[in-house]
Amino acid sequence: MQNYNGWLVLHDRDTVNITIHISSILEVSKHYVEERGRSYFCYGDECVFCREGIPRRSRYIAEIIFHGEDLKWEFSQEVYRAIRRLTSKKSGSVKATVMRFGRGKKTRYRIYVAGRSQFSNSFNKYQSGRYGHMVQS
Ligand SMILES: [Zn+2]
Repeated sequence: MQNYNGWLVLHDRDTVNITIHISSILEVSKHYVEERGRSYFCYGDECVFCREGIPRRSRYIAEIIFHGEDLKWEFSQEVYRAIRRLTSKKSGSVKATVMRFGRGKKTRYRIYVAGRSQFSNSFNKYQSGRYGHMVQS
């Protein structure tokens, strides 16, 4: 099940065809709290997670269409960069195929944007070293 209360949620080995509304892409700041196994929005100056020194990272939220339904999709900076590399569009929408492989810290994504001849390289957000628990590949 990929529609989870209006959010697109991908699992290991999922491949989905979606339409991404480019101008809807919104950058948000979040903290991943390891002990609780979930992320929280950063609240800026008053943020307890910032004060505790928990790394803050950029996440992105976009409005998409999946199987004819309007959903939201949250993704990492690496996915955002791949989308940006694959399209120069600043508005409108693009059709994309997104593949997810693996779970947890071994999760990798590949993205194909219609009109481009190639898939993005597969990438893993933990390889970028901004998480404080970088995984060796
Ligand atoms: Zn914060």
